[in-house]
Amino acid sequence: MGWTCQHDYNGYCKLIKKPCVPGMKGCILKSSEYIFSTGSYEEDKKAQEAKEPKEEIDFCALARSN
Ligand code: SF4
Repeated sequence: MGWTCQHDYNGYCKLIKKPCVPGMKGCILKSSEYIFSTGSYEEDKKAQEAKEPKEEIDFCALARSN
């Protein structure tokens, strides 16, 4: 299975008018749920953590409700 961007023309982005780099600023995939690797596990992990809201569990409220 593959995917082709409608703005791609032989590796050139017709939307941004620069060589296609999926996920770059202005790319339609930038605000998507897809994550683009930087090539560094640690950098990817930091970016992922910054993107996801931290879910905190209020254990006191949870205990009181039961
Ligand atoms: S940069 Fe994004 S919008 Fe442009 S051609 Fe590549 S995938 Fe498509």
